Amino acid sequence: MTMIETKLQGVHDRIEAACREAGRAATDVSLLAVSKTFPAAAVEDAFRAGQRMFGENYIQEGVEKIAALRALPIEWHCIGPIQSNKTRLVAENFDWVHTVDRFKIAQRLSEQRPAGLAPLQVCIQVNVDAGENKSGVTTDEVLVLAKQITQLPGLRLRGLMSIPEPAPDFVASLAVLTRVRALFDVLNQEGLALDTLSMGMSADLEPAIHAGSTLVRVGSAIFGGRDRPA
Ligand SMILES: *Cc1c(COP(=O)(O)O)cnc(C)c1O
Repeated sequence: MTMIETKLQGVHDRIEAACREAGRAATDVSLLAVSKTFPAAAVEDAFRAGQRMFGENYIQEGVEKIAALRALPIEWHCIGPIQSNKTRLVAENFDWVHTVDRFKIAQRLSEQRPAGLAPLQVCIQVNVDAGENKSGVTTDEVLVLAKQITQLPGLRLRGLMSIPEPAPDFVASLAVLTRVRALFDVLNQEGLALDTLSMGMSADLEPAIHAGSTLVRVGSAIFGGRDRPA
């Protein structure tokens, strides 16, 4: 096995174990491999090991890898902050975006989504711990933004995404992640039919799965440590 195969298998084992403990089916949780800072060759290695969904934070870097790997049937997710001047690159190149937190950005993504492509699949980034990780809408704002996004033809709202501040232990982590899950449940009670709860990274995928995550975003546990900060 290659190093990436071994590490990917290790992450799948962690997801399965967490699902078993939480009484969930392992098929309920998808693995997004976060390849930021790693070269296209590393993505290709992971692809050969069976991985199909990849996440990028830096839009320009992601677009370059998407172009280099165009021949492979990869689903590309944008998971980084989006400035207004980058919406067109996201709309034209990615399949998903997890980090929508303003209507103005959502509108631009919708307008700029090429007609020949499926709608861009969208998660709203929520900030439930008001950490200094300042991106994301507050609990009070999320329902209004969600309803606005459902009116945009170029987008399809799929769920919520969160990046909580690092927590000291499982219980503390679970408490914050459960607030995201509760918000997700409220939106579904409001009729929004969301199916994606994007939370959990290398360090907190177990509590995230306990809290109901359907998609974990894992970088370093697959590709190794990053030289550049994320
Ligand atoms: C970098 C990053 C990840 C992956 O983090 P790891 O700790 O390397 O697993 C997940 N989500 C977002 C938004 C990131 O920026």
